[in-house]
Amino acid sequence: MNFYEILECKENATLEELKHKYKQLILQHHPDKMNDLSDSLPSSSSNVNDDTCLFQRINTAWNTLKDPAKRKLYDAELCQNRFQLHNNIFDRLQLKDLDIESCIDDDGIERTIRSYRCRCGGQYICDDETEVCTNNESEELLIECTECSLVIVLGR
Ligand SMILES: [Zn+2]
Repeated sequence: MNFYEILECKENATLEELKHKYKQLILQHHPDKMNDLSDSLPSSSSNVNDDTCLFQRINTAWNTLKDPAKRKLYDAELCQNRFQLHNNIFDRLQLKDLDIESCIDDDGIERTIRSYRCRCGGQYICDDETEVCTNNESEELLIECTECSLVIVLGR
């Protein structure tokens, strides 16, 4: 699990969202609280260890993500890992190769969505809010298919 998954947040979550979630999770998984519970439920001792471990992971995640500089480094690392992970590239394209569509979102704001059809019937969607992954060296973008594990790489 990456730090965002530990904090149950999206990768583009704001600091406020992360903080909110962090506080919630800390309350849920605080070891003291678990110990109190385990007094009445002796059989759950293995869960306590899991929760202590999770508690530490939540703290580690938060300590990294609350610091903008650390978060930036972590994001970059995450992206690099993802690039290495994805050797299943469907296509290499330029932004102009994608279909352009305009739509009105729930807030009545017009947004431009670029999409590309995958061979599985799914789509690669790139809009202003897409969590795109940038490879620092080549400045390429990585977009994941909505349905399968293939990705497209967008050159600039
Ligand atoms: Zn697909």
